Amino acid sequence: MKKLLTVLLLFASIVLVLAHVKNVIYFIGDGMGFNHVYLASILEGRPLNMMKTQYVGIVRTFSANTWVTDSAAAGTALASGFKTKNGMIGMLPNGEPVPSIAEVLKSYGVKVGIVVTCRITHATPAAFYGHVPDRDMENELAEQLIKSDFDVIMGGGLRHFIPASVKGSSRKDEKDLLALAKERGYTLVTKKSELAQITSGKVLALFASSHLAPASERTGEQPMLYEMVQKALELLSKDGEPFFLMVEGSQIDWEAHGNDPYGVWKEVVEFDKAIGVALEFAKKNPDTLIIVTSDHETGGLSTSTGTYMLEVEKLRKFKANTDWFLARYNIDEKQKFLAGVKEYYDIEMTDEEYEQLLNIKKTAKTAYDLPNAFGRYISSKALLGWTTFDHTGDPVPLFAFGPGAEHFTGWLDNTDIPRTIARLMGYPLTYPIQKEPIITGPVLY
Ligand SMILES: [Zn+2]
Repeated sequence: MKKLLTVLLLFASIVLVLAHVKNVIYFIGDGMGFNHVYLASILEGRPLNMMKTQYVGIVRTFSANTWVTDSAAAGTALASGFKTKNGMIGMLPNGEPVPSIAEVLKSYGVKVGIVVTCRITHATPAAFYGHVPDRDMENELAEQLIKSDFDVIMGGGLRHFIPASVKGSSRKDEKDLLALAKERGYTLVTKKSELAQITSGKVLALFASSHLAPASERTGEQPMLYEMVQKALELLSKDGEPFFLMVEGSQIDWEAHGNDPYGVWKEVVEFDKAIGVALEFAKKNPDTLIIVTSDHETGGLSTSTGTYMLEVEKLRKFKANTDWFLARYNIDEKQKFLAGVKEYYDIEMTDEEYEQLLNIKKTAKTAYDLPNAFGRYISSKALLGWTTFDHTGDPVPLFAFGPGAEHFTGWLDNTDIPRTIARLMGYPLTYPIQKEPIITGPVLY
């Protein structure tokens, strides 16, 4: 009898441990590798919020067809637990749709929120509600989003929701998705000042025609990520029922594509501030699991180019995103340009360096050539290294907080993450019948 009781108690405690995760907040820093986090922490001179846990994982990110994933395949892995080919969203490589954890949870009545700083139809958020063979099908994704019935939707991308005849639309048809959303019970919001008035119900908040402004330049009626997260948590937790919230720091990736140290720094800090809001929420709601991870590394960021040095003080003097700077300082006006480089980056650009950069502009094949070269140039002055203007196959960090955090340590595959979250919340991610993660394509082990 005593033995039976012990077994029963043990069983009950296991169930209790597994059933303890009520809410999940899933943070994805797009393009955020270990060094993006570390660099921001160095420049801030403090540990970031996300670093304050012992539960740290290392996540491999390859897709079904290449060692270097894009955001669509990576988003699909992080959302559904299945590898797919680059470019595909919410589908297996053969085109078979797979549901995301958000869709599965929604079908069980769990409230779902998605909060991003890019177009809400961009690859990472789309992987949580969309099923298309090509990530560029953003008009279709907008329709799929409205049909998802998710409770809180915040980001940019208004242009995909308005009919083609309305100025600024990117649609090719006359569908009015905002009207459709209203019919489906959504309150529409397009300004930060309107957020305060929303206290309940489903919300579709689109604060920009395309992406929100970069963190360091965002003003006026576009909210910061932490403000959106605050509101999302208020709405999702209102009735005390379980919820799942995905938050993306969308623009870390783009700054890293441009090899822009200041941009990466400010985007990581904005992302981390939103994580701080979630950690405060979790203090009062200890049955909340917080996962912070990334879809892939961007840029091949490295903390030195040689000589056993990183010029941290030089980096700290940078004052603007390279895109912002190049939009205001025309490289053709030499004296003004050189003065600007001195003012915003504390760099004395030589005549030779100037000529090299000017030549890149003259021979540019894309609009990115000059900003990329300029980002690489200012980085080199601080001995900060980059290997590419694209993604790399580097593993990315995972930081976990709260109940179940211990399940997210060690070497992980990106497909493990949603599967483990679903298991801890007590819901199955069973479609298609729990196949092994697809590890074909580039996979050699
Ligand atoms: Zn990405």
